[in-house]
Amino acid sequence: MRAEIIAIGDELTSGERLDTNTQWLAKQLTGVGVEVMFHTTVGDDMAANVDVFRTAIGRADVIVTTGGLGPTADDLTRDALAEALGVELVCDRASLEHIRNLFESRGRQMPERNEQQAYFPAGTAAIRNPNGTAPGIHAQVAKTGTGVCHLFALPGVPAEMHEMYAQCVAPAVASLDGEPRVIRHRTIKVFGPGESQLESMLPDLIRRGREPRVGITASAATLTLRITAAAADEATCMAVMEPTAQQIYEAVGRFIFGEGDIDMHHAVLELLAKRGETLATHECFPRGLIAGWLAADDIGRRGFVGGRVSPEVDDVVAAAQEVRKAFAATHGLSVGPGDESGEVEVAVAVGDNVVTERFKLGGHVAVVGPRIAKCALNLLRLNLV
Ligand code: AMP
Ligand code: MG
Repeated sequence: MRAEIIAIGDELTSGERLDTNTQWLAKQLTGVGVEVMFHTTVGDDMAANVDVFRTAIGRADVIVTTGGLGPTADDLTRDALAEALGVELVCDRASLEHIRNLFESRGRQMPERNEQQAYFPAGTAAIRNPNGTAPGIHAQVAKTGTGVCHLFALPGVPAEMHEMYAQCVAPAVASLDGEPRVIRHRTIKVFGPGESQLESMLPDLIRRGREPRVGITASAATLTLRITAAAADEATCMAVMEPTAQQIYEAVGRFIFGEGDIDMHHAVLELLAKRGETLATHECFPRGLIAGWLAADDIGRRGFVGGRVSPEVDDVVAAAQEVRKAFAATHGLSVGPGDESGEVEVAVAVGDNVVTERFKLGGHVAVVGPRIAKCALNLLRLNLV
């Protein structure tokens, strides 16, 4: 089953507002095994909306649209859908009652404009909106030779949309495919190798068509290996992914610092907590970023005990030991200021032992700081495991 999500509104196409509905809907659909093939965003223009609806009906089995169901002149979803389907708009008495009652319950009379929210393309069904005046629309469109396309038009207000999706769209979508399916992911976080280097370490895993599927994404110097499995239930998904995860652990080993929603500093804090050890930092570069990360996520624990920030330091190795002693920590981490050649020296004092490594700066200024911070934390991590 292929799905398309259509976000409607000038505020989206102009960049004034971020389209968060599409992301949310895509996650919901993907989570129940529906493959989302297209994201479309369209402004409040009649011809463009009709065009977008027709295109979507031609290429998707499930379509979810958000926006354009309000009572104002720029809300065109109802009319555009009727035109795309080649049918008239007809009044739905129950929806009209609901809208009228909603206004009355708020002590107001229903403005005439809102009446149009009770009109639906002939042959479609209303999706109840418990929290607002705009009902949604469920259209079933027969496609020549390829079954039925289900289109669900929902309002743009995220809270209303979420509830209507859960109450009406999710159960409808689940019953479309016959066999219930769930999709689950395992994300394995890797730091150190580059993207293509990582791929070459995993010779046959990133192959198209492989089951379970494995993908690589890179973000802020961290690589994520994502395993995806589809099966009848969660336990089967997890079992299907396990051998692939094992292969990854065997091939990538120490470069892996965790799984799921974890960053390098979380991994370090976990290790410190597990070992009952503590860390103090001295940063010339990137000037407190490491301390900030650690402090923010060490709440309720005492793994990160203190940090210093200074523009210069005489001796990076001595600074790691000094800061360790000053804060009575088991470990000290110090990062130098970076020299003319663009190299930064990092020293890790694990107890009385000091390990150093030089890292080359490079890339956009916005990524250099976090990258060095992660290199430094990773050096510590590797000396703790
Ligand atoms: P509408 O149903 O088009 O009247 O949209 C109502 C409100 O919902 C808009 O004013 C936006 O604030 C919000 N909204 C509409 N579409 C989206 C979207 N795709 N993502 C996030 N918010 C949206
Ligand atoms: Mg709108």
